[in-house]
Amino acid sequence: MPFHIFNTLSRSVEEFSPQNPPEVTLYSCGPTVYLPQHLGNFRTFLNWDFLKRALKFDGYRVRQIMNITDVGHMTSDQDDGEDKIEKTARAEGKSPLEVANHYTELFLADWDRLGMERPELFSRATDHIAEMIALIGRIIDAGFAYVTKSGVYFDVERYRGENRFGRLSRQSLDEQHAANRLDHSRDKRSPHDFALWMLDQPHHILQWPTPWGPGYPGWHIECSAMAMKYLGETIDIHTGGMDHIPIHHENEIAQSESATRKPFARYFVHSAFLVGKEGAKISKSAGKFPLLSDLPGAGIDPLAFRLFCFGAKYRSELILSDEGLRAAQGNLDYFREFARNVPAEAAAPGAETPGGAETHYERFHDALDNDLNTPQALAVALDLVAESYRRQDFGGWPTLLTFDAVLGLQLGHYREMALGATISPEAQALIDERAEARRSRNFKRSDELRKQLETMGYEVKDNRDGATEYRPRRI
Ligand code: AMP
Ligand code: ZN
Repeated sequence: MPFHIFNTLSRSVEEFSPQNPPEVTLYSCGPTVYLPQHLGNFRTFLNWDFLKRALKFDGYRVRQIMNITDVGHMTSDQDDGEDKIEKTARAEGKSPLEVANHYTELFLADWDRLGMERPELFSRATDHIAEMIALIGRIIDAGFAYVTKSGVYFDVERYRGENRFGRLSRQSLDEQHAANRLDHSRDKRSPHDFALWMLDQPHHILQWPTPWGPGYPGWHIECSAMAMKYLGETIDIHTGGMDHIPIHHENEIAQSESATRKPFARYFVHSAFLVGKEGAKISKSAGKFPLLSDLPGAGIDPLAFRLFCFGAKYRSELILSDEGLRAAQGNLDYFREFARNVPAEAAAPGAETPGGAETHYERFHDALDNDLNTPQALAVALDLVAESYRRQDFGGWPTLLTFDAVLGLQLGHYREMALGATISPEAQALIDERAEARRSRNFKRSDELRKQLETMGYEVKDNRDGATEYRPRRI
């Protein structure tokens, strides 16, 4: 079965066919780096990691670009309020660059902890100002943007004409903007017009010269400019969270297609939200939000969060719950235990697969091809392990390792580490920190670190003489 995916443009599951197989170009809207990224943000990013790995499983070569927004994302999607990065910079007494660098580092560290493959490039908005200015020039030349004192605006009415409905959201302009109080006070022709470039804002710290005066870019233009620079004028897949459908992605399409007169993206794929128990979207504006760094203290490995997300369909809302996370941790432990239990003969290169592994392989493959049905793929992987125990035949291990190219649990590495009795540099850093915590009698921290090491697969034994033994857990 060829790969199928739900395309928001057609509102249906479509057979996937990229422009130049086996190449696939993938642009993923990335984070705005003014606060730490929460588990909701990472759910969306994980979904693109699953998508990318599933495409590779099918033999495609994926070229992914993800932006890092370090300027121009306003506190409202309507270009109103304050630039989010500058707001944090003022509050923390730092420069916008310091804020962006700090939260980018945190973001990348969490990204790696989740076992996500890095894209070919994380492209920062402030490194692509020239491309944005050039693209805005093209949009003005095509007649779809105009310059006023306060900014360069995209002329939405002109672009939409008679057809006042958004292609992606299928909403009228009024519906798209219904949730936001539109600012009529600006010198825009219509309240629906959005800023490509902000002018006349002397208090904004970051400013760049342009043919229209100094200022800074709007949020939407950065994605169009960077996507086109690295992936061409028509990209295969564009991804983002569902909140991007009505405004951000509508605007990206409008500005890109008015400049190039070509389809901007052939497939738009959107991820559903991670929500709290009450069903509310986890969001930065809520003030308090769960972070990846909260999990190890509760005995949850970052890779268990990865598995938790894998266990849900990308288009379905997912409720963040302790039970759900614990169940995912249970599954991770189950896979790891299996990895440790596989006898050396079964892990040798060329080991026979047992009868049945082939059908598991097909079922796993079909699940992924069927609109990235990761929960079903997970069920197949778990069944492969259960079946191996039932038959006491571990020949399915190589098949599980091929599944792990998509699951991303690093089971092969885990097995080597567990059986080779080596301590990884990551674990060594925690061991050193724990020794320091014990020296300074900070037992709370020492306990947290013990739990963290245990979830990473280490045995921790504090001896009476004060010394501690650490070893990778054996069978
Ligand atoms: P932001 O940094 O707020 O622009 O968000 C970065 C990405 O995370 C976007 O693709 C959002 O759609 C996505 N996102 C934000 N909140 C959630 C959530 N609660 N669940 C899933 N994705 C989210
Ligand atoms: Zn974007």
